[in-house]
Amino acid sequence: MTASLTGLGPILETPPTWPEGLTPEVLAAIELPTPFLAGDLRMVADRFQRFARALPRVRAHYAVKCNSAPEILRTASAQGAGFEVASIGELRMLQAVGVDPADVLYSNTVKPAAHIAQAAEAGLWRFAADSEGELHKIARVAPGSAVYIRIRVDDSGSVFPLSRKFGAEAHHARALLQEAKRLGLQPYGLTFHVGSQCAATSAWRQAIASAGRIMRNLQQDGIRLEMLDLGGGFPARYGDAVPSIEQIGDVIESALDELLPYEPLLIVAEPGRHMVAETAVMVASVLGREERAGEEWLYLDVGAYNGLMETQQTVGQWRFPLWSSRADHGVVEQVPYTVTGPSCDSSDTMFYGAPLPVTMSEGDRVFIASAGAYTLSYASSFNGFPPPATYFIER
Ligand SMILES: *Cc1c(COP(=O)(O)O)cnc(C)c1O
Repeated sequence: MTASLTGLGPILETPPTWPEGLTPEVLAAIELPTPFLAGDLRMVADRFQRFARALPRVRAHYAVKCNSAPEILRTASAQGAGFEVASIGELRMLQAVGVDPADVLYSNTVKPAAHIAQAAEAGLWRFAADSEGELHKIARVAPGSAVYIRIRVDDSGSVFPLSRKFGAEAHHARALLQEAKRLGLQPYGLTFHVGSQCAATSAWRQAIASAGRIMRNLQQDGIRLEMLDLGGGFPARYGDAVPSIEQIGDVIESALDELLPYEPLLIVAEPGRHMVAETAVMVASVLGREERAGEEWLYLDVGAYNGLMETQQTVGQWRFPLWSSRADHGVVEQVPYTVTGPSCDSSDTMFYGAPLPVTMSEGDRVFIASAGAYTLSYASSFNGFPPPATYFIER
């Protein structure tokens, strides 16, 4: 996409991930106090529609933890999505926007017993587990519930692996579903998560193959599963290219055709990041520019603690697209900056060697694209700097 900045003449190349309604020139004209996250709900709706076209057999259950703004939850719901939660708190957020708990999956595999009981009381009936202990807990506080077992899969193609913390070994999953039946629970399905921001399409095929083998073994026990849950991990665009949802959809659709002994009634996925990351831009101001031991530092009013936690978790692994409000951006020379946050802790630093105009100074704004996922949901008020406000543009 190209955008021409007023008064400059030359057409400038903006990063490909810039949302249509949130280009740097649009953002530069917004006079709200910073920091804030500017989101585009129409783009969120488009993501859900495109996902549904790419994976026609798969129903999206949006992962609430990724971005739980009520506007996003309402938009997902209006697109026909179900939801995935990790706690009673997330279920309550959904109830507040009118979502039926029966349409929600509780996919955290180690849950507080009180949350299970309250969720079941509200009408949620499907719970994930990956151990005997959790099955016994569910049978005790929510008898008769449907359970789906999370299996451990290869997540080495992702930026955030999850299979060390969660997931039963494939050979154990069969025993867990038999045990569920003995406990009076409904042996309902299987799930996995290939790791967040997964760029290897083969990860889904391998995981589906593993689920298919378990389903085949379970047939010998007289257990036929109703649900296969493909989890999350669908990538978003940051600095580097990732496979498109259509490419991932092709791999998944053919794996479902080829690798399962039968097609479960319900095939779902739990996308989070893919649905929202590219739909919002963080807008921050430069509090000060300083030279420290020969390095140029920019101090912003947003940092790792109050909105951009993932910059800390992925140091050097990916780059958020950056732009600034400066009229000479793209015209003057760019120099590498260390971009840090407002707190008195040095670990709120977000970017190293980030190219921005040599002219950057106090009061200029910095636009951080692809900031719609895992930003505000992580943010704290550390050191008295509250999380950014959220605004959604109308178009
Ligand atoms: C976080 C999470 C998701 C969403 O993951 P993304 O990588 O954002 O798509 C889905 N399911 C479960 C169980 C999760 O914990």
